[in-house]
Amino acid sequence: MITISNIWRGTPINAYLVLQTRFKSKTHWAKLKKKSGPKYKALSHFDEFYGSVFGKQWEPLREALLRRSKYVAVVNNYGDTEQTMDYLSNRGAHCLKNLMSIQKEFHDKYNPQPNETPPEQSTEINNFDSYIAKLQSEEISNIYRQGENVPEKLELSDDRVLGSTPKNEDKQDRKSAPTLNQALEEAELDHSRIIEPSMGLSTEALYQYVPATKLKGLDEWVPESLHYSFMTNRDKDFPLVIEPETQFTYPEHLKVMTYEMNSEYDRFPEPKRCSTGVFDYYPMDCGSVVSVLALCLAPGDRVLDLCAAPGGKALVALQTLLPDVLVCNDASISRSNRIERIFRDYLMDYETGNKWQERVMITRRDGRVFTDDHGFDKVLVDVPCTTDRHSVMEDENNIFRADRVKERLRIPELQSQLLLNALRVVRVGGAVVYSTCSLSPAQNDGAVHAALRAAFQSHGIVAVVRDMSGPFHALSSTLKLGAGLVKPKYGQLILPDIAANYGPAYVARLVRIK
Ligand code: SAM
Repeated sequence: MITISNIWRGTPINAYLVLQTRFKSKTHWAKLKKKSGPKYKALSHFDEFYGSVFGKQWEPLREALLRRSKYVAVVNNYGDTEQTMDYLSNRGAHCLKNLMSIQKEFHDKYNPQPNETPPEQSTEINNFDSYIAKLQSEEISNIYRQGENVPEKLELSDDRVLGSTPKNEDKQDRKSAPTLNQALEEAELDHSRIIEPSMGLSTEALYQYVPATKLKGLDEWVPESLHYSFMTNRDKDFPLVIEPETQFTYPEHLKVMTYEMNSEYDRFPEPKRCSTGVFDYYPMDCGSVVSVLALCLAPGDRVLDLCAAPGGKALVALQTLLPDVLVCNDASISRSNRIERIFRDYLMDYETGNKWQERVMITRRDGRVFTDDHGFDKVLVDVPCTTDRHSVMEDENNIFRADRVKERLRIPELQSQLLLNALRVVRVGGAVVYSTCSLSPAQNDGAVHAALRAAFQSHGIVAVVRDMSGPFHALSSTLKLGAGLVKPKYGQLILPDIAANYGPAYVARLVRIK
């Protein structure tokens, strides 16, 4: 007969420990295992990071992030457009364009004063500084033994700082505060904590078992605080101008249907095929529509979507009927194949009339080195990011998976390199819109700051930040925009909110002037 004691007698020690954990814990072992998965890691990371930076405002954001998100319907101009609009209005949805113009009229009537200039130094930045200081001191105490001559700060080495040419005084400062590489060369490492590659463990395997902030290998060492270095370097050694956007107009042909805030009923039915064979509408997060609105597209524009796959925002840009040329680029071949699929499903004449085939081009290049001979009027840079909502909801394809630590920590660097290249390929006078679906100040304002700085220092490019808070105020009956602690300096944040559960989305508009 099989008894517990029989099992234990013939059980190897590991299995015994597993059994012991299973019997000791009040929670079912399968649940325990699940709770250490990537989405739980993401949530605990955000609890610590966003909790420190946004204070009490994190709680309601967290609650909304964990609930079902809301979406809008972008009505297809190539389907039975009027019929679709009527069908959705009969179900209680409103046209975003109308909601925005009503809100604007109301605002202009009762608040005629001009927009305030954003404050130079926000509380968010101060909190961010304290968070990074805490993280760094933990990391330093992980490398240095007690009583050793410890550096005050860990920094990126010069070759890792995007397009930078450090000044002499910077170099002086670096003597007292060594760079990360110098610190590592000089530091006496605790060899008991180093895992040798010869042990047969792949880098991936190392990440599986070693927490990110204590990641040690002979050839690689990635402290968590590097992730935020783009935010900590706020030198103003480049021309930085922030001015209000005054030229915004809603694209005449873009038809977006939405339910109002707090509306009890806010679900759209499944999209269906129209008499023309294409789908009647495209469901998407309102934050994605907002980043296309920020492009301020004009008739005849030559547009680049630098990170376009799977093609949602490119489709919205085409639904404005404004661009003359749209180049949809994405480094991933499999993801960019999805752009073609979406266009086939939504653009009636994609294959037959050839109108869009002439105008739309799909390229598969690394956006950091994408070049073009003509220059674009508008460039959308919708970068890869920590996709906060996805990260706390789904384990699949989650950037917080243990074997993706390095990829995650290098995200702000990749983002600013993509934005830097966008600033290079846009013509003087043209505009770049940078967007993410993250709340992280490092990936938002931090990456914008780093790219503006590198664009000036390495290429003499100057771009002004166009503050969209004026035009976007008209969205305030539809979605929640960041304010107070959660108000970025360069861009606008669409915040998850129980009453209007879109986002998060960060959108910054830059106009190249030199
Ligand atoms: N704009 C898209 C949309 O609306 O459907 C979503 C873009 S998604 C947030 C980011 C995209 O960036 C991914 O499809 C990814 O393949 C792409 N990407 C990542 N690294 C890239 C690079 N170096 N160059 C170009 N695209 C890149």
